[in-house]
Amino acid sequence: MALIEDVIEVLLKHKEGLTVREICYALGLEPSRENEVYSAIMKAVKVLKRKGLELVMIPPQCRKCGFTFDKPKVSRCPNCKSEWIEPARFLIRGIKRR
Ligand SMILES: [Zn+2]
Repeated sequence: MALIEDVIEVLLKHKEGLTVREICYALGLEPSRENEVYSAIMKAVKVLKRKGLELVMIPPQCRKCGFTFDKPKVSRCPNCKSEWIEPARFLIRGIKRR
């Protein structure tokens, strides 16, 4: 539970968004804990909703052909087979009210 709060805090400080790896650096975690951070981000969605905030994912993109992925964890572009992928970024913003 504490990791979720740490992740939320660090994302609130970086409005431009962070990759999972950057979140690990910011929290002083080993890169081997990326999966843990990733699942904390997924769990944070509900917590944030209650606070009137939303978690936004800027999807990963292939740096070679520009293909945009629809899921956060990817290793290879299905279009050009490149592994040069710009990772997903996550950011928190207020939910727009109409
Ligand atoms: Zn590609």
